[in-house]
Amino acid sequence: MARSPLEIGGSTVKAGSRAHVEIPVSRLITGAEMSIPVVAVHGKTDGPSIWISAAIHGDEINGVEIVNQVLSELNPKTMAGTLIAAPVVNLYGFITGDRYLPDRRDLNRSFPGSRKGSLAGRIAHLFMTEIVERCELGIDLHTASDHRTNLPQIRSDLEIPRIRELAQVFGAPVMLHSPSKTSGTLRRAATRAGAPVLLYEAGEPWRFNEDAITTGVTGVRRVLDHLGMASCDGEPAGPVVECRSSRWVRASKSGIAHLNVEVGDTVEEKQPMGTIDDAFGKRRSTIRARRSGIVIGRVLYPMVNQGDALVHIATPVASETP
Ligand SMILES: [Zn+2]
Repeated sequence: MARSPLEIGGSTVKAGSRAHVEIPVSRLITGAEMSIPVVAVHGKTDGPSIWISAAIHGDEINGVEIVNQVLSELNPKTMAGTLIAAPVVNLYGFITGDRYLPDRRDLNRSFPGSRKGSLAGRIAHLFMTEIVERCELGIDLHTASDHRTNLPQIRSDLEIPRIRELAQVFGAPVMLHSPSKTSGTLRRAATRAGAPVLLYEAGEPWRFNEDAITTGVTGVRRVLDHLGMASCDGEPAGPVVECRSSRWVRASKSGIAHLNVEVGDTVEEKQPMGTIDDAFGKRRSTIRARRSGIVIGRVLYPMVNQGDALVHIATPVASETP
């Protein structure tokens, strides 16, 4: 029996085909229509339905590139299941290079949203009803925020067996257990609606980071292969370090930070990771690791105020004391 077509955003996508669908959100003040661009790849044969989303924070563009590279290789005629790809969810922020929406709301604190809510709430509601409700699983792509960069990593609730399995399959160097506690995130709202989320964090905002993109594209392809949707013949995943906790080292003084660690480095407790100096190079303090672990994020902008987050260190499971 032929597979049923997919209905999305008022369009009908036949099995074995792909369609570009625009899901209308609102109009700009000038009257131009604003819509969420979506590509639905509806495979020829039955299989899982999953979504992949990026730029929920409008300045996080690595994911946009990842989505497009993944789409370029997919053939609906040989694919099983359905992939709904939304490379630009916060379309307003994406246009202006802004993390937030024009009303300064964070879209990723506005889920599940509502039909008559704020602009963020409306976009969230639309995303939930048009995309999440049609899927059993999602992959949400992010980068670090605010002059920081992240080591490619999966941050998800590893207590969910399917998510844990797929985090291993994805093959980013680190998977960090992170229960979705923060209210308003897509991850939490979708998980509650029955569609758990694999959240990928990699690189920095406003840039294409090659490693972040390559690791992301390969990871998504491995997941699609593992789910039996589309085969990929790339490298199998290398070892994935599981971490259950992480903490930021913060600036003890204001000044100019000179860091000598990069994301991916292993550090020992009390290891010097750089200095904070005044504008004339005079040492104000030494930045030291508070715990042993892997550097999964760091600040890039050297001007820091006391209390600013500098280096994000995650503790691998094997080295954690019970
Ligand atoms: Zn983000």
